[in-house]
Amino acid sequence: MSPAAELEKPFLPFSKPTFNDDEIQEVIQCLKSGWITTGPRVQKFEEDLKNYLNCPHVLTLASGTAGLYIALKALDLQENDEVITTAFTFVATLNTIVMAGAKPVLVDIDPKTYNIDILEVEKAITPKTRVILPVHFAGLSVDLDPLYALAKKHNLIVLEDAAQAIGTRYKNKMIGEFGDLQVFSFHPNKNMTTIEGGALSLHHDKFLKKISTARFHGIDRDIWDRFTKKGSQHYDVVEPALKFNMSDVQAGIGIHQLKKLEKFIDQREKLANRYFEKLKGWTELFLPPHPQNFDHKHSWHLFAPCLNIESVGFSRDDLIQKMKDLGIGIGLHYDAPHLFTYYQKTFGYKIGDFPHTEWVSDRIFSLPLFPLMTGEEQDRVIEGLAHIFNKTI
Ligand SMILES: *Cc1c(COP(=O)(O)O)cnc(C)c1O
Repeated sequence: MSPAAELEKPFLPFSKPTFNDDEIQEVIQCLKSGWITTGPRVQKFEEDLKNYLNCPHVLTLASGTAGLYIALKALDLQENDEVITTAFTFVATLNTIVMAGAKPVLVDIDPKTYNIDILEVEKAITPKTRVILPVHFAGLSVDLDPLYALAKKHNLIVLEDAAQAIGTRYKNKMIGEFGDLQVFSFHPNKNMTTIEGGALSLHHDKFLKKISTARFHGIDRDIWDRFTKKGSQHYDVVEPALKFNMSDVQAGIGIHQLKKLEKFIDQREKLANRYFEKLKGWTELFLPPHPQNFDHKHSWHLFAPCLNIESVGFSRDDLIQKMKDLGIGIGLHYDAPHLFTYYQKTFGYKIGDFPHTEWVSDRIFSLPLFPLMTGEEQDRVIEGLAHIFNKTI
């Protein structure tokens, strides 16, 4: 099809949430019920998440960022305590470490996975290290067994940024089924959404109290009980905190999204496989990592190849613009966060510190991928790329 004809078509976004009447009716019911903030729907959504993840404790939150923040706060990090994390992530991973009062210590990625390089983690451990914070980038599980073994050896906590990994499996277990702490995001671009929202799963009772009070003003009692006949109006605060609870309107949406999540992931997987099939052998691209050397199930939050800029002779940003000109939305996940002004200025990071991260960050782009994307829409993406690369397909 000619580029002119392409432009006649509606803009194809790189991501789109999937709703139907289930979510719409639930929101209406919730609004009519008279109880719209944290209440029975949040309670049910948390139960459903516990069952889905097979995890003893799940707390819903206003966002994934809130989850990272309160998990780190609950660990009582002191100034100069170090949190080791990946250099290739969304900036929330770094910001929350700083906001919780600790120091982010970045390490480079493994170019075979784009996830944190476990050998680099080991090298970065010092007597001040308290936490390892891996990110399951794009829905691909970090190889967790060696990471947890390392954490155990050095008596460190592992906080998994699983914002992109709801439904991801590692060795036939859900991310969130084992380990220390995991944080999920339900932002509209993620594999399921509550508009905004997040959840934290934890496996040790010892953090539960701290985390649940950190979620709501430091108030030491269940929020819901406070407003029902069960509880009295009194409460105590042992430590001040902010407010990160999820509303019942959001949880009502989440209850239905969670029921469909496995189907969403199946759809994503089909589309990802089709991208692999159609783009196989294209010298202009490096296809996304999908390692086979450990047992895992990818949840395909993103399908993010790298552009072979040396071969095509133009930049990734040029490619994004050219695709946009064809009416096709492309995501960018992520600009390397160590090069943001604050992180350069405060921690002295500079270009050249994390070569693999910077290589990927200069070349990566996220192709359209969402459960309701049609084969025809996917063909548009593939034809658009072929057109830009002057390829016949
Ligand atoms: C989306 C995301 C977050 C933040 O989640 P929010 O719900 O938007 O606050 C954090 N880390 C990573 C890796 C993410 O992709």
